[in-house]
Amino acid sequence: MAFKRTTAQINRYRLMERFEVNILGCGSALPTTKHFLSSQVVNLRDKLYMIDCGEGSQLQFRAMKLKFQRLNHIFISHLHGDHCFGLPGLISTLGLLGRTSDLHIYAQPDAPIVFQPLLDYFCKQLPYKVIFHPFHPARNELIFEDRTLKVSTIPLKHRVPSAGFLLEEKPKSPHIIREMIDFYQVPVSRIHAIKNGMDYITPEGEIIPHQRLTRPAEPAHRYAYCSDTAYYEKIIPIIEGVDVLYHEATFGEEDLARAKETFHSSARQAASIAKAANVKKLVLGHFSARYPDETILLNEAREIFPNTILANEKLLINLSI
Ligand SMILES: [Zn+2]
Ligand SMILES: [Zn+2]
Repeated sequence: MAFKRTTAQINRYRLMERFEVNILGCGSALPTTKHFLSSQVVNLRDKLYMIDCGEGSQLQFRAMKLKFQRLNHIFISHLHGDHCFGLPGLISTLGLLGRTSDLHIYAQPDAPIVFQPLLDYFCKQLPYKVIFHPFHPARNELIFEDRTLKVSTIPLKHRVPSAGFLLEEKPKSPHIIREMIDFYQVPVSRIHAIKNGMDYITPEGEIIPHQRLTRPAEPAHRYAYCSDTAYYEKIIPIIEGVDVLYHEATFGEEDLARAKETFHSSARQAASIAKAANVKKLVLGHFSARYPDETILLNEAREIFPNTILANEKLLINLSI
């Protein structure tokens, strides 16, 4: 017996499945008219999680029509200005907008030492609390968990302590087929058990396998953010098989010496990591301002890992399709 889903059901289903990465900025160090500084927002079923907050991130946040009230968690990879100078401005703006719920910031232990004095001076009347959660950037550990998502750190190799983030959607429950539930007149009290794999036994003693009452859940998705870092093979087992890897590619092959000196990666190195980790898709970012056109980086990476794209401001990467 097959049932067609209505448009309303499909729309609700899409919202339930949403896992998108919004690129707010993908330039490095020097702000230019071409690129904003590092910042992304992951939208998982309408809850927003920010990764890095370079200068100007709040403007990009608005430009991408994201909702400030949906943002409760910010993850900062490392304390270089191009990844965190946007924090005080964003925190101040959220106060002006009348926010009252806590804002959680996950960063290295030095973050409150750096930012708390700024907040004490500029944001005295803040109507909400900013709570810093320190993590150890040299460890691969779970730093955040809620009903739908787990975030763990990916130790990176940079001039200062730096950590990437692995965002893993939790396994989803199968979908109930409403029409089948109605057909067998399954009581509401049994639905939870059926979603958890229990069969239904009718009052007449007929066993209805749970597979007949449910549609399988879609696979849970995984996203890895690795910036800033030199070429670092130790991350490979951590990011193995992710749906999308965002890896910094600050330089091209002709500037390899500069990449080494500054603990950054070339596009080719990012592609080698993607290939070795068997990821599904690679997104290059954190571009040096020296490249007026990053196609050269894209081509170098694609020679090693063909399913590569360039990040760009306002790019939306959808993991759920
Ligand atoms: Zn950077
Ligand atoms: Zn850096």
